[in-house]
Amino acid sequence: MGGTCLNIGCIPTKTFLNSAKLYVHAREGAAFGIEAEAVHSNWPRIVAWKNEVVSRLRRGLELTLTKEGIEILRGQGRLMGIHTVSLDTGTKEPLTLEADSIIVATGASPIMPPIPGVQNNPSVLDSTGMLALKEVPKSLCIIGGGVIGVEFASLFSSFGSKVTVIEMMHEIVPVMDRQMAMMLRNALKQVTFTLGAKVTAVEDHRVLYEGAGGEKGTVEADVILMAVGRKATVEGWGAQDVGLEIKNRAVATDAHQRTNLPGVWAIGDVTGKSQLAHAAYRMAEVAVADILALRRGEHSVQEFVPETVPWALFSLPEAAGVGYTEDEARAKGYDVSVVRTPYGVSGRFIAENGLSSPGSVKIVFEKTSQRILGVHMLGAYASEHIWGAALALERKLPLSALRNMVFPHPTVSEVLREAAWSVHEYHE
Ligand SMILES: Cc1cc2nc3c(=O)[nH]c(=O)nc-3n(C[C@H](O)[C@H](O)[C@H](O)COP(=O)(O)OP(=O)(O)OC[C@H]3O[C@@H](n4cnc5c(N)ncnc54)[C@H](O)[C@@H]3O)c2cc1C
Repeated sequence: MGGTCLNIGCIPTKTFLNSAKLYVHAREGAAFGIEAEAVHSNWPRIVAWKNEVVSRLRRGLELTLTKEGIEILRGQGRLMGIHTVSLDTGTKEPLTLEADSIIVATGASPIMPPIPGVQNNPSVLDSTGMLALKEVPKSLCIIGGGVIGVEFASLFSSFGSKVTVIEMMHEIVPVMDRQMAMMLRNALKQVTFTLGAKVTAVEDHRVLYEGAGGEKGTVEADVILMAVGRKATVEGWGAQDVGLEIKNRAVATDAHQRTNLPGVWAIGDVTGKSQLAHAAYRMAEVAVADILALRRGEHSVQEFVPETVPWALFSLPEAAGVGYTEDEARAKGYDVSVVRTPYGVSGRFIAENGLSSPGSVKIVFEKTSQRILGVHMLGAYASEHIWGAALALERKLPLSALRNMVFPHPTVSEVLREAAWSVHEYHE
């Protein structure tokens, strides 16, 4: 129970990243007056703590479901019709389950592209394989500079691995505002980024790539992480047989999470709308609201709005954002203005992170109306206060809403307010 997020995704990676943060802070503590004689990281202990966190949360989740009277059946499910699911438990005859409403939530799995030398190569791991490493690799080559690739790069470089990231695009983390992505890349000083390069083959521990101009290169590493993306799990459970509409390799859904089949809803990664756990959670709420409204003969007003889902990247430093990047807002035809304020204006940020730690908040807004179109953050705690920006976007608020609100002091979140105040031409 708990799917990818709890077992092999968000929670284990964030537990590891917190250990990495503690290690880095302990090593750099002298500048803050805390001197530790010899700071060591203990990978087996870090893994044990990760396992404890995951199993505690999993047990808690199972208990909550059971308490709510939800029956948990374990096995491989298959959609047989709009009201029927068969369940192969591996022991007896498949069970047949009937239901008025069915919600599909089969998630996604890592993509292993057909690059020569990748299949059946024990040096090439996906994100799940990385969680089972017995030791910190001396060197790590990561194919793909997206969110997952960059989190692993930050994690293992903090523990001393020599990390190289090979990315096909000209900047890392496509979801990020380009300016902020460049700042993040520069902040991850211990990581070597090779951009605009396509991996052509893997030979044992060697990754071969080709640059945009045809120049060739090689990276040798103990471990190779394939992090080029995840694909929706649309096969193996009968979607095609029952005529479920698959679009762009995902289950097609409307804003209420309805599929083309009456009585069947889909939520989470399998819909291709977002690959974030909190988005999956929101889609679930929207689908359930729709199911209940239909039962009452009403129309649900709840919809899933992908544009205002915040995202977070838990590297050191972390990053977060919501809404349009500057480039996206311009491409949409908005008359765009931007403002960027360094985290260094925050007393708390300086006190806790030092004078040279990177950090910045950027607000993208419409010039005339001053409506907020996007907020992008880089630096400690970004993941914790991005929700405030998401609320502003969800409510279609102008910059004045941030200016006229009182933020607690001293907090890093005040930088958002400072950024709103630094726009000189403003309306109330
Ligand atoms: C390394 C990593 C780090 C991540 N970090 C974050 C993060 O920090 N924040 C964030 O928001 N998101 C993160 N994600 C993404 C997040 O895990 C997913 O968005 C989220 O788990 C999607 O939820 P879901 O319910 O759609 O699918 P899943 O969590 O994938 O759940 C689908 C479940 O369905 C089961 N299943 C599939 N087919 C069948 C079948 N036929 N019968 C029975 N069961 C079936 C699967 O075994 C799985 O347990 C991360 C992902 C990875 C891989």
